[in-house]
Amino acid sequence: MTYDEARVQLIAWRDDYPDNPFESDRLLRKLLARYLDGVRLGDLERRASSFATAMTSVVGPAATRYEQREHLAEFTPYDGIGRRIDRVDFDPSYHVAGEAVWASGVVALSGEPGRAFEQATLLYLLSLEGEAGHACPATCTIGLARALRRRARAEVADRFLPALLEADYALADRGAQFLTEVQGGSDVGANACVAEPSDDGVTYLITGEKWFCSVADANQFFVTARVPGAVTGTAGLGSFVVPRELDGHPNGFALRRLKDKLGTRGLASGEIDFVGARAWPIGPLEEGFRTAVSVVLNTSRWMTSVGAAGIMRRAVIEARNFARHREAFGQPIERFAAVQLTLADMSVAADGALALVMALTDVEDRIDAQRATEDDVHWHRLLVNLVKYLTSRQATNVARDGIEVLGGNGTIEEFSVLPRLYRDAIVYESWEGTHNVLAAQVLNDLRRLPLLEVASARLRALVRGDVAGLNDGLTIALEGLARCRDDDEFATWHLREALDRLGYVGEAIYLADAGSPVAAYHLLVRTAPGYDGTTDVGLAERVEKLLAT
Ligand SMILES: Cc1cc2nc3c(=O)[nH]c(=O)nc-3n(C[C@H](O)[C@H](O)[C@H](O)COP(=O)(O)OP(=O)(O)OC[C@H]3O[C@@H](n4cnc5c(N)ncnc54)[C@H](O)[C@@H]3O)c2cc1C
Repeated sequence: MTYDEARVQLIAWRDDYPDNPFESDRLLRKLLARYLDGVRLGDLERRASSFATAMTSVVGPAATRYEQREHLAEFTPYDGIGRRIDRVDFDPSYHVAGEAVWASGVVALSGEPGRAFEQATLLYLLSLEGEAGHACPATCTIGLARALRRRARAEVADRFLPALLEADYALADRGAQFLTEVQGGSDVGANACVAEPSDDGVTYLITGEKWFCSVADANQFFVTARVPGAVTGTAGLGSFVVPRELDGHPNGFALRRLKDKLGTRGLASGEIDFVGARAWPIGPLEEGFRTAVSVVLNTSRWMTSVGAAGIMRRAVIEARNFARHREAFGQPIERFAAVQLTLADMSVAADGALALVMALTDVEDRIDAQRATEDDVHWHRLLVNLVKYLTSRQATNVARDGIEVLGGNGTIEEFSVLPRLYRDAIVYESWEGTHNVLAAQVLNDLRRLPLLEVASARLRALVRGDVAGLNDGLTIALEGLARCRDDDEFATWHLREALDRLGYVGEAIYLADAGSPVAAYHLLVRTAPGYDGTTDVGLAERVEKLLAT
């Protein structure tokens, strides 16, 4: 093959990417039709189709530019005569993408309770471009808007919500959420930031340092802070909204610097000092942590899972198309069994993740519309932590496998979107809750609430006989988690494996339910083989030995 012929193959590979990745996503469309119908489904399909075209023609090319190091956001702390301004400036391409993203309605729909499927579909399409630059700000804005809508007093919501719900990017306020401090992100109860009552009897003044502040350019910040007379731990935290500016001046905060990140580079993440920033409480002060987790963090966990599913879909598209065009040893590499197996594993992971994410979206939708039953709330509580944990790890694995299929070219930033997907996926694993923290949350919930009973009833009802092993797999998965719930020592060493198993079996069940029994079976046998923790004796001692050397 000549050099030119090789390049023709690469051009053909790039040309294969669909102009409209919504229209060509059969599983997504099938899943949407499973949960929705009539006018709502038609409206969603039109909205998604139009956004998908904008993704390929506008957002993707823009993201490719503003995600490169030389075009990242820049921080200007002072103006020309030394006044503090704390300005964050972006490459113009960032705002070009922002206009399309905000115009899609992904954020503005937060004003209409029960539009979770619309928001998830739009964010999924955005994530096909490995676009965290606006996906993260959109997610943070949706979380803050939901917190204001669901938990704030009317006058606080009236003051802050309208600008967050604006679909015109140039006019819209963007939201951020600041919980993490330098002494710990998982241990939010270690927050030392304080909120003192101001003399107006309504607002509070926040002082302290926040260590991980994504969307450092946001107009409104959701902030956790320790309230007067607070007990220690999370129970002593209030939730507040802090506007960036008051009367045209920075509202008691200083941005120290922007962080140089492995992934999600398109958006600005910084470190912020608050010194008497005026803040309005969201919900009762003593329920601050509940607001933070049940509304803000859970919204982000759901959205992060949606994003992970989008990352996987794109990696699969790139790798499958590449394998069709790329030749080695005289034939397209897709003819090699080893490549086929990798592609099959990637595909079922992406499909399974999407099916499970849409099951989560279904309960999100009902909860947001206040149509949820008590069982829905329990199911959501388990799913939101499990799905974020599982899909963020799958996304990293699938993006890495995609890079492997592209070979050395897969590691080159300009060659494909895959390096960006991979870098972002790793960040997705940590933010909004690390794996261990989410797993611990599930265990805690299992011990207090009938989550396993609800999971068993929901999943068992979907299992049909067309996928061998699915019923037994579910039984083993549920037994593993029940044992973790009842046996501390077992849970200490086997919780994550038990969660993996339920997650993969859950994906397989929803995939089978969506009419993909072969994919469901492949997923089951490749990711959730028979597992019995009792046979692995001496694990605790072995780990101790390994870590001692
Ligand atoms: C790019 C990026 C952007 C971010 N943006 C924001 C933001 O805008 N706002 C915000 O508030 N935060 C943000 N974060 C912070 C993120 O939420 C935290 O990194 C995360 O919560 C973990 O906290 P940590 O980094 O302090 O890790 P640590 O809490 O120090 O955890 C370190 C390790 O210890 C493990 N661990 C901790 N506790 C336990 C336990 N009990 N049992 C077992 N293992 C445990 C964790 O799983 C982890 O592997 C961002 C993070 C990143 C990477």
